[in-house]
Amino acid sequence: MRHLRLLVLIMMALLMCQAGALASDFGDRVKDMAAVTEVRVSKQDSKVRIVVEADKEIEFKKMVLSNPERVVVDLPNAWLSPKAAMDTDLRSLFAGRLHVAQFNKDTVRIVVESKVGKNNYDVFKLKGGSSACRIVLDFGDLSGSSEGRKIKLPDDRTEVKKPSAPAPAPVTDEVEREMASSGKDEKQEKQEKQQESSKKESGKQESGKKETSKKYVKVEETPSGGVFEGSGKDSGDELDEITGLKGKKIAIDPGHGGSDSGAIGPTGVMEKNITLKVAMELKNLLVAEGATVYMTRTKDTEVSPKKSRATDVEELQARCDIANAKDADIFISIHMDSFTNDAAKGTTGYYYGSGSKMSRLLADKVRQGVIDQIGTSSRGTQSCNFYVVKHTDMPATLVELAFISNRAEEKLLHSEAGVKKAAQGILDGIEDYFN
Ligand SMILES: [Zn+2]
Repeated sequence: MRHLRLLVLIMMALLMCQAGALASDFGDRVKDMAAVTEVRVSKQDSKVRIVVEADKEIEFKKMVLSNPERVVVDLPNAWLSPKAAMDTDLRSLFAGRLHVAQFNKDTVRIVVESKVGKNNYDVFKLKGGSSACRIVLDFGDLSGSSEGRKIKLPDDRTEVKKPSAPAPAPVTDEVEREMASSGKDEKQEKQEKQQESSKKESGKQESGKKETSKKYVKVEETPSGGVFEGSGKDSGDELDEITGLKGKKIAIDPGHGGSDSGAIGPTGVMEKNITLKVAMELKNLLVAEGATVYMTRTKDTEVSPKKSRATDVEELQARCDIANAKDADIFISIHMDSFTNDAAKGTTGYYYGSGSKMSRLLADKVRQGVIDQIGTSSRGTQSCNFYVVKHTDMPATLVELAFISNRAEEKLLHSEAGVKKAAQGILDGIEDYFN
């Protein structure tokens, strides 16, 4: 018995030594490495910013890999603090899944699934602030140096929450500050932070810039939550033979609205207005063809009952809820594309790759219908992770009609003829799909 006890003691002592050795190994190994202490995500309009904090100066290596398309940023000679590890869906038009992990013993790897071209993201180092080094990854339409694109959204709308852990303090304000003033010293930054938080306390989030942008934003209340039902049920019998859409239930989602302008073209045309015009025109065409139409919005407003206070996810889910509740046969979300390079042009059909097989067909038909009508070039039919096509229960597509950032395409879709043609093109695609 005594022997046994001794043996246990010896084994415990050995184990403790080993654990101690492991811990000091780790300490030795990382002592010259930078610790990645925090990763924060914020969203503004369609832009996504990822801020990586490290306790020492670090370098980064970026690359773009395909299948799926993703931007990879490696931080050599760094180790990842467990609390900074992240695996989340950014649910943005420009950025899908974000994964932050220790890639090998001395490299931290950040992977962002993204459909963007290599000019539509930016990775850079920011100095100053509380940490020794900050690496920033921006995704989205980064041409937005003009005031028009800097529409600031109210507080929580732009915050991305980690699915499991509680979200870090809202970083939007901080990120915007960073965007506006990369070169400020720490004292100045601290002062601004204080001002910012006192603003928050008084509940006033308005700055001069926001006030200006608000001028463009007219929010109208719709008691019905934005749903409009138009039906061609009463059409005469003779119409039956020539309509393939009688009895079809079609959900139309004009992208953006209210406080969310979507992308803005070089002459100031807002995506939210074009998508609504095309959607309303399409609704009329569909009703005339005998279909029942459910609109997520019929006015310049958010769809969520929380209006501008809704988070991105709440707003997008509200759109899905309408289509799902009505048990629509298909769901079509209408958008305009945007890119830093104003030469980018063309029409893209998107569908959720892991969803209904029919979604791809729908995306393809609608894209082709639009192209045949407005004469844009094709950017193909692409799989995506966009929220509205992922969380709708029926075959669904998101069509990027054309590029609002392209002067010619902005002009085309800003014209009545362009709107009519685009709507006709979507209708043609829908008819093709059902036939
Ligand atoms: Zn859009």
